[in-house]
Amino acid sequence: MSRHDAVVVGAGLAGLTAAVRLAEGGASVLVLAKGVGATHLSPCTIDVLGYDPEPVDHPRDALRRLVDARPDHPYRLVGADGVAAAIDWFKGCFADGPLSPYAYAGSVDENMRLPTAVGVLRPSAVVPETMAAGDLRAGGEVCVVGFRALKDFHPVLLADNLGRAAGVQARGLELDVSPEDRADVNALGFARAFDDASFRARVIGQLAGRLGAGERVALPAVLGIADPHAAWRDLEDRLGRPVFEVPTLPPSVPGMRVFATLRERLRRAGGRVILNVVVTGAERAGARIIAVRARVGLRDAVHEADRVVLATGGFASGGLELDSGWVARETALGLPVAGVPAPGDSRFRPGYFDDHPIGRAGVAVDGDQRPVGPDGAPAFDNVTVAGATLAGAEPWREKSGDGLSLATGHRAGGLMLAESGAHAGPAAVGMGG
Ligand SMILES: Cc1cc2nc3c(=O)[nH]c(=O)nc-3n(C[C@H](O)[C@H](O)[C@H](O)COP(=O)(O)OP(=O)(O)OC[C@H]3O[C@@H](n4cnc5c(N)ncnc54)[C@H](O)[C@@H]3O)c2cc1C
Repeated sequence: MSRHDAVVVGAGLAGLTAAVRLAEGGASVLVLAKGVGATHLSPCTIDVLGYDPEPVDHPRDALRRLVDARPDHPYRLVGADGVAAAIDWFKGCFADGPLSPYAYAGSVDENMRLPTAVGVLRPSAVVPETMAAGDLRAGGEVCVVGFRALKDFHPVLLADNLGRAAGVQARGLELDVSPEDRADVNALGFARAFDDASFRARVIGQLAGRLGAGERVALPAVLGIADPHAAWRDLEDRLGRPVFEVPTLPPSVPGMRVFATLRERLRRAGGRVILNVVVTGAERAGARIIAVRARVGLRDAVHEADRVVLATGGFASGGLELDSGWVARETALGLPVAGVPAPGDSRFRPGYFDDHPIGRAGVAVDGDQRPVGPDGAPAFDNVTVAGATLAGAEPWREKSGDGLSLATGHRAGGLMLAESGAHAGPAAVGMGG
């Protein structure tokens, strides 16, 4: 049995953000998670609001309109200024993080247009510095470079689509250079190789003479995992032109950089992440949770906590489940799930980006992000919910996933710290009071 000021369930962007804020505010924090979250799958660009439903140019303004029009949307909890504050905080995490001077660029005021791995331009607000030169709003000439051994990235397809759909002058080429000359290497294998100056020299040797005078260079997002800033700068300097990363299929190297940065900040502040732990329930005393129950392999464990952050990622990460009888359940604490269509009603529509009736299902919360039941009353006083498990959003359609998880995770940590300060007084360092 362990005891902490706060137990955070979930190690995605929302859970880690809340955990770091809490730990840096003086709380003892334990993060429990079944596995890593969407960081290791998604591009980990902070997409605040990409579509409303048209492509959004100015997310801060569009957020204000969204919150006015949709009072049930979780962005109402943070507002445009709360999102901006979370982004400032997030950028600050990299400034003295383990990958410094690697940084994020952009703001909530403006969306860039960056190519996806299939050459579609997508709106994105805050992105790794290594991707920012891929903002193709003003067009330009691009040489998309892939590697024969990296099977998940198709430079010619990407370039063709960029030309066709975005009016960008682009061409693709494939290099025959790979770590240890292996035939099949994934994104992480390439990222480790790019940390090595001699590997970069081989790439530059094959590429330098083949570039046109005005071409920028697009590469898969594999430019280093230990020191991405150095790898990217080295390529830009030696090729003498802007170089940018394009997100590719999982594993996501940019997401791993985010995970490493936040976990290291948490460690420095005294917090801890334990993976391979499934939270299966809670023990309660009145309106408060006093401990969470967890399963580690075949063993059960109990972790006492003054407060709990639930950041389990919704259906995509197993935080919510729909059983064969179409009954939805919240897997960690057994909270009510809102927005699930009634038995017999349709849950899905035919098109992927359609307005699916089940799309906004999740845990409903009050203004302090506490879970509520169907009557609107808090289910627990000391639980705060954050991220993709919240009801009301449609991150896939809105392109708001990481913005929402960052902003609500940031606020969850802040709310808990403020509450503990009110109980314990300004001098208190722990949350227990
Ligand atoms: C392939 C892919 C591409 C994406 N592309 C984009 C994009 O381009 N732009 C964008 O904005 N968003 C995108 N998203 C969505 C975005 O990444 C997510 O919405 C966001 O990162 C979710 O973060 P989260 O912290 O809320 O949840 P997650 O990152 O899903 O984390 C949930 C955590 O909870 C844990 N967990 C769940 N249940 C339990 C339990 N019972 N016990 C213990 N732990 C549990 C999981 O193991 C995990 O650690 C993408 C997602 C994916 C998967």
